[in-house]
Formats: sequence, C-alpha cells, structure tokens
Amino acid sequence: MEKIVYVDNAATTPCDPRVVEVMTRALSGACGNPSSHYSVGYEAKEFVDTARAQVAKALNASPDEIYFTGCGSEADNWAVKGAALTKARQGKKHLITSAFEHHAILHSMRSLERIGFEVTYIKPTPEGFIRPEDVEAALRDDTALVTIMMANNEIGTIQPIKEIAAICKKHGVWCHTDAVQAVGAIPVDVKELGVDMLSLSGHKFNGPKGVGALYCRKGVWPQNLIDGGSQEARHRAGTENVAGIAGIGLALELATATLDEKMAHERTLRDYVIDRVLNNIPEARLNGSRENRLPGNVNLSFPGLEGETILLDLDMHGICASTGSACNSDSLDPSHVLLSIGVPEEIGHGSMRFTFGPQNTMEEAEYLCETLEQVIPRRRAMSCMWLEGQNTARDFSLKGEH
Ligand code: PLP
Repeated sequence: MEKIVYVDNAATTPCDPRVVEVMTRALSGACGNPSSHYSVGYEAKEFVDTARAQVAKALNASPDEIYFTGCGSEADNWAVKGAALTKARQGKKHLITSAFEHHAILHSMRSLERIGFEVTYIKPTPEGFIRPEDVEAALRDDTALVTIMMANNEIGTIQPIKEIAAICKKHGVWCHTDAVQAVGAIPVDVKELGVDMLSLSGHKFNGPKGVGALYCRKGVWPQNLIDGGSQEARHRAGTENVAGIAGIGLALELATATLDEKMAHERTLRDYVIDRVLNNIPEARLNGSRENRLPGNVNLSFPGLEGETILLDLDMHGICASTGSACNSDSLDPSHVLLSIGVPEEIGHGSMRFTFGPQNTMEEAEYLCETLEQVIPRRRAMSCMWLEGQNTARDFSLKGEH
C-alpha cells in the first residue's frame, strides 16, 4: 500500500474540501474588518455571524452564547482561569477537575495553584470514568468551578457530564466541560447536558486548525483573558480570524448533519481493530472501557515494547498513529492518563492510540492490523524487555480479575 493511512484523527483531522472552499472565499473576497461599517466590513461580519449561528445550532445554544477563540486550549484556559478570577471576588478559591484532563486544563490549574488557588484532582476508575459521587464529595463551600472533560483524548472514555452538571447546579457551582474530543464525534447538546461552559476546537471535526469556541450559558461570565477591542461582545478582544471562523462553522454543521452515519462507520472500524488485535497479538490489552467510548478510539498496550518503536515501524509502512496525546508526543514520559487509570509504567510505555475518522476505510483498518501482526512479534523477538513485559502484563491482568 503506497498511500498514507492516517489513523490519528484525535490529534487532528483533514480539512473537508467544502470547508477549504468557504475559507478560501472568506480569505479572498471579504477583505474588510468585521468591525468596520461599510460593505466589505459587513461582508466579513456576515461570515462570522453565519458561523456563530451554525455552531450555536449544532450545540442547541443561542448565538450570543458562542465566543470564538484561537483554539481549544484558549477556550479551556479562559473557562478555568476566567471562572477562577470571577469567583475569587466572592472568596471562592477552590477548583475541582480530574487527574486525566488535557494539559490545557491541568496546566491552567497549576498556574492558579501558584497564585493561591486550591485544586482537587479526582482520580478516574480503572475503566476510565469519573464518578459523579466523587465530584460531589469533593465540593466545598468555596468551590468556584468543576471542570471535567466530556471525552478523554487518549482512551476515548465518555464521562457522565449530565450527572456531574446536575450536581454542580444543585450546589450552585459553575460546571465546565472540555468537549474538544466530543464535539463532532458524538451528540453534544448543551441544554441536555446542563453545563455552564463548554470548549470545542475546529480541527477535531474536519475543520481548520487554530480556531475554537467557548460556549457560555447566559448569565455565566468568566473574566476576560484577552482585553482590547469590543469583538465577541467585549469578552474576547482581537480582530476575528474570519476564514477560520467561517471554516469551523461549516465544519461543525457538516459533521452534525452526518453524525449518525459517521459514528456507525467509525464504530465498525474501531471494533474490528480491537477484536482482531486482542485475538491475534499475545498480551495486547485495551486501555479504557469498551462501553461508553468514542466511536473512533482504539488505545492498546503491547507489553515488552516501547510505543516509539512501534510508531516508527508503522511510519515506515505509511501508517500515521500516536503513542498518546498529540501534545505529549515530544515527551518520553509515560502518559498521565494511563497512569491515572492504574496502568503500570512499563505497560504504559508500550501503548498506541489509533483514532478513526469518516475518511478511513475497512481496507485501511485491515492493513493496520496486518502491519501490527508483523511488526509486534518481530520487535518482541529482538526485545530484552519482552520476558519481563509478559510477567508484568500477567500480574496486571490477574490483579484486574479480583
Ligand atoms: N482538550 C482536549 C481534550 C484535546 O484533545 C485538545 C487537543 O488535542 C485540546 C483540548 C486542545 O485543543 P487545541 O489543539 O485546539 O488547542
């Protein structure tokens, strides 16, 4: 197979040609500033207004609850730091999150800890879920915010956000969810979920990179992070990325229109790969629950090997995958997500994430499995870690059976 098999759709997705087309129109035609009061300014504003309506419709929000940002990380930073600063004025300086959030949340928490906020990190279950009762038990009178991700970016487990948001509402605490991996992948309805804030990012659903959005329920005001002009209803200054915004709006409209079909397709590929690998490769194990998992997510450990070795071998066969989250791919530290669900360090090191999108085919899923079936035994035969890896894997699965 000569072509590239791209199975890293949780890292980013290819831009839909229809999205490229609307972005090209926005870039080449609407030369005005959306804040300017003349025709080409209005033309640019029209792209922004259309996209805001598209994003709002997809989330069941109203357009004035959608704020465009520079990326999903910015939306997360804004929700966490902005909510902390707003609530600190009422003496509330405690935040709750989970131990396996994306670094956009975890590092925001670290920054707040350095200036006197206290953070509780809830540990997920071994299956990869945050238990609502653990969130409720962690609440305090001075809790400013609860933020739990909607779907984990490494193991794909979908969190009980509706239940968590209901608990927050009962206790009068703001609830944010990082839905960057969920929006465009599974149904997301902010009213149904009952969250106060929700982050999303365009490049995860066949839209452009470098544009995201924060949903803020009416009446919820995280303090601004970027001050300046009056863009985004005075809450996020800076001349709008008109083409990027036009792109994210259309991409989300397209992803939502075909969501059922897209989910069914990705689920077929995911289940095929999980079943075939677990049957054919000794000691391979699936990380995270099989139930309540993103339709396109496969995360497997191959004890006795380093993920980086597998990654390079796959690359030589034209397969693009990941050893963990994209933002961590420069680091050889074991994944904080796998450690948080109790995967031993040695097994965590040999983990791979394969994530499918609508453009992947069954032929590609078969090719991925065939390649793993060649590469893993060959590398293991050369690996002095393999014997030890088998023992660790057996001890770990025996522990799981108690
Ligand atoms: N949150 C999650 C769960 C993610 O997976 C990512 C990106 O991988 C982000 C936030 C950051 O989004 P962005 O790349 O748009 O900054």
